[in-house]
Amino acid sequence: MKILLSNDDGYLAPGLLALYDALAPIADEIVVVAPDSNRSGSSNSLTLDRPLSVFQADNGFYFCNGTPSDCVHIALTGILKFRPDLVVSGINQGQNMGDDTLYSGTVAAATEGYLFGLPAIAFSQVDKGWDEIKSAARVAREVVERRFEQLSSHFLLNVNIPNLPYEQIKPPLATRLGKRHPSEAVIRAQDPSGRDVYWIGPCGRQKDAGEGTDFHATAHGHVSITPLQIDLTHARQLDLLKQVLS
Ligand code: MN
Repeated sequence: MKILLSNDDGYLAPGLLALYDALAPIADEIVVVAPDSNRSGSSNSLTLDRPLSVFQADNGFYFCNGTPSDCVHIALTGILKFRPDLVVSGINQGQNMGDDTLYSGTVAAATEGYLFGLPAIAFSQVDKGWDEIKSAARVAREVVERRFEQLSSHFLLNVNIPNLPYEQIKPPLATRLGKRHPSEAVIRAQDPSGRDVYWIGPCGRQKDAGEGTDFHATAHGHVSITPLQIDLTHARQLDLLKQVLS
């Protein structure tokens, strides 16, 4: 198995290092191309207004001064000398569940591989702080080893792993994305010149965290695996809109 590995927390992040260590023994080839700094929340953005540079660290990891999507895009179209069998992203510091998935750079890195026709998996740990990151990496390897060939040659999986010791993590459940209420208010402050500046506020409370959701699965100690798709077309409203316009 040939793997392209990326993330959005940057090439020095403990979650990336742990995932590399877990996957390297089961990979024929594994190449890391990751952002040079933390690009969490960058979603699927591509950098189009400046050229990008790629460097190689002492441990062999490539790092790029762009977004997670840039990294995977450049890897697949310019750096890799092989077509990977799988694109893996993570392990992110913090959950990417429900509406978070739209903003996530972790999910975006995997999505970029998916858009190139490759199977792709995004991994996140539910709580920040890297507690039990080695347990999460071990779980991630088990998920990768399942291969999921029954799904299709082409899939995008969003995996969230509770921060628990390995023995306490419950088996994976297939889930749907939950939903959150709108974000909390923006946090206003002043810069040294007295101008107002704004920090984006925390994400909203859980709105749909019922059984079957990613929120519910991880709250009960399970690994959550949600299959994602990219087509944003609202099929039901498409039909309604056709009636409205006819
Ligand atoms: Mn992140």
